[in-house]
Amino acid sequence: MNLIQKIKDKQILELLQEANQTTLREHGNQITLERAVFLSWWCDKGDCSFCYMSSQKPLIRDPKKARRRVEAILAEAEMVRRMGWNIEFLSGGYGAFTTSEIRNIATEIHHITKNPVWLNVGITSELEAYGEEITGITGAVEVANPELHRKICPSKSLEDITTMLTEAGELGFKKAITIILGLGETPEDLKYLWELIEQQGIDRIIFYSLNPHPETPYANTPQPASLYYAGVVAATRLKFPRLEIITGTWVDNLANIGPLILAGANGITKFPLFKMFGTRYGRRVEEEVEWAGRDLQGTFTDTSCLEGESPRSELEPYLKRYIKSCLNTKTEYKV
Ligand code: SF4
Repeated sequence: MNLIQKIKDKQILELLQEANQTTLREHGNQITLERAVFLSWWCDKGDCSFCYMSSQKPLIRDPKKARRRVEAILAEAEMVRRMGWNIEFLSGGYGAFTTSEIRNIATEIHHITKNPVWLNVGITSELEAYGEEITGITGAVEVANPELHRKICPSKSLEDITTMLTEAGELGFKKAITIILGLGETPEDLKYLWELIEQQGIDRIIFYSLNPHPETPYANTPQPASLYYAGVVAATRLKFPRLEIITGTWVDNLANIGPLILAGANGITKFPLFKMFGTRYGRRVEEEVEWAGRDLQGTFTDTSCLEGESPRSELEPYLKRYIKSCLNTKTEYKV
């Protein structure tokens, strides 16, 4: 079956149907909630044209000041554990935290959640420093067409990313990549993505859809169509039945979740967790999963999970703040 041609011919329903059967057969019917935990609001590169950080970099003089407090990061990990979510990866921090600091944070999170963590901290040649606290390394590819990539992400070359992923594999880590749809790619460009997945033996892919930020060239670009997004995910599922697929949906696009699950997503991500928890938007996520015929691991609404024993007393004030934010009587979350 020519999967790319099927997308171009808009045979999306057919793709979804087959991808859904493949996913249920290969992965079962569990859907995970994934939370990217940010280490800092700083990026050393800061020039990917779609990225919020690219509009912030000129405003931040001292990267150290953009660091989050370690206690806040660990408390967030504890909240994620209590809610039954997964940590999608530890993100950012490149240029703000040193490798040994990142390793220490990952080690503490491993203790808290009992799961080793994925890293997405930029291109690094220091992977040897990491050990059993890390399960895998994420390459933030964003766009797999080499020509587009050079234009959109001028400071993080595809070659450097793949070199890092190769090294990650040699060191025994799993490998993931992130892809953003809506940056100007075409269905034909899937050939670059699939080549990369095949050549690198990628274990996990995280798809996002463009979230157009003001002050970037994409400010007035529409997000990709829901059926295009679902078609790309479904074709990727059919091409790689065992691949772990996470799909990102911002709060203004919750209706994408059902189709993305049918397309083959194993997990969903990109939610403003503490603002959405317990609101009708959190409930909506749960209903999207239910109507896709899946079981959700963890909760977006059950407030009884929020309290618990603090792993360390220093985390208590941060845990209280997060719990308060979850319980904040809110019937509306402003999009
Ligand atoms: S490297 Fe990542 S965080 Fe930095 S500008 Fe590019 S996309 Fe944004």
